[in-house]
Amino acid sequence: MTFDNIRTICTTILYMISSVLFIRGIKLLGKADTARKGNLLSSVGMLIAVVTVLFEKEVTSTISFGPAQNAYIWTIAAIALGGIIGAVWSKKVEMTGMPQLVALFNGFGGLSSLLVALTQYMTDKNINIFSSIALGLTIAIGAIAFTGSIVAWGKLSGKMFKKNVTIPAKNAINGLLAFVGLVGVVIYALSIAGVVGADIGKIGVIIVTCAYLVLGLTMVVAIGGGDMPVIISLLNAFSGLAAAFAGLSISNSVLVVSGCLVGTSGLILTLIMCKAMNRTLYNLLFGSFGSTKKGTAGEQKEPKSMSVEDAYLILEAASSVVFIPGYGMAVAQAQHAVKELCDKLEANGAEVSFAIHPVAGRMPGHMNVLLAEANVPYEQLKTADEMNPQMSNTDVAIVIGANDVVNPSAINDESSPLYGMPIINAFEARTVFVLKRGKGTGFSGVENPLFTNDNTVMIYGDAKQTVTQLVSEFED
Ligand code: NDP
Repeated sequence: MTFDNIRTICTTILYMISSVLFIRGIKLLGKADTARKGNLLSSVGMLIAVVTVLFEKEVTSTISFGPAQNAYIWTIAAIALGGIIGAVWSKKVEMTGMPQLVALFNGFGGLSSLLVALTQYMTDKNINIFSSIALGLTIAIGAIAFTGSIVAWGKLSGKMFKKNVTIPAKNAINGLLAFVGLVGVVIYALSIAGVVGADIGKIGVIIVTCAYLVLGLTMVVAIGGGDMPVIISLLNAFSGLAAAFAGLSISNSVLVVSGCLVGTSGLILTLIMCKAMNRTLYNLLFGSFGSTKKGTAGEQKEPKSMSVEDAYLILEAASSVVFIPGYGMAVAQAQHAVKELCDKLEANGAEVSFAIHPVAGRMPGHMNVLLAEANVPYEQLKTADEMNPQMSNTDVAIVIGANDVVNPSAINDESSPLYGMPIINAFEARTVFVLKRGKGTGFSGVENPLFTNDNTVMIYGDAKQTVTQLVSEFED
């Protein structure tokens, strides 16, 4: 048996092992208590895949002098540099900045696939029709994922595109860009088939690259408000698909497997989130992205407010309490104080639950992660479907820094941009406490009539301070 045969068998086995680790890892990521293990398994799978690629392919350098002629030095230096930046950045990032980070990761994933495809196009002289189509699709999807994610990052971090940009005839322009890009893919494939010359093929590659880079921008730039989380998830699916097509074009099975896993899981999450926000995928892709109408505030009543001391008296007498956390709990980092209050209420004989909306906070699972960090038992976290039927029997609903996800205009004001989005029906509780700093709107910018309901009282202040004061009231 030759060295090449042994190398092929070893790489096949190692690719299979890393694929199994990815699949097992994703399965474990589905539950909060096994998620860390899932993350670790997937990371080990990725390490095995990277080392195997370096072992399988002869990595060559175009530089012919000094240590730089050894391409492995370049590769390892790039991995080390990227690894250090990634580790430091992920460690430093606040929980509230996680969606921006995910958006950037998606963008870099798309850019990597785009660069792999362009490099393959420039260096591989034996491309067949099948690979050329896969390369064209890698360029197309990678380019959309790259520019779309950069725009999403800019919007979420507030560094770019703070205001929604309206593009006249947006769908027609996007349709045209998509069509022109596809024509580029066809031209390129025809050049590989020998129907048109190589120079025209190059023009095809330039067309598809430019058209889809612009398409990523025009698609996402007009989106705002509640649609952004779904878009990030969709772009995540795109970056996975781009990687899968890149894997097909360079015949790398583990890249196909990992790309398909990211692509399908991203798509499934997109569909789940569409359902949670009452949007269809069609509407998301071609509908009124980032509608700018802000709905009506209903009656222009002033919200009633209450002191912590008075709120304590109501809480002390409550036999059922539901916490409804939102983005403000993450900003205030109030989760540990909330757990303390939960313990005090339970010790006082109250039944306590947490109603978690799928898009509460700024990323899917945001509230679950924070509450798990504070050791709130997973069984106490309930979905909107589980909690809403019980809301009218609840003595006190404590809304902690949530706004859009408890906005009743989503169910009773057809003119509201939130109309149709399922919410947690906090307004049905006997008494509703809303803990927030002031009269700020939520992410969507839509006014919330819940705050002026007769059974609602506002407890103004930073959520952590308010909850900590409530805990002290129980201790006194
Ligand atoms: P919202 O963004 O609607 O509201 C958050 C509220 O928290 C604000 O009204 C703010 O009011 C209050 N707040 C901020 N800081 C504090 C603090 N320190 N203490 C107390 N209150 C505070 O949050 P929701 O969770 O209800 O809704 C999430 C929104 O974000 C949805 O529109 C969703 O579509 C969107 N989104 C969700 C993502 C996801 O994947 N989960 C990703 C991106 C967007 P005030 O300033 O008056 O204190």
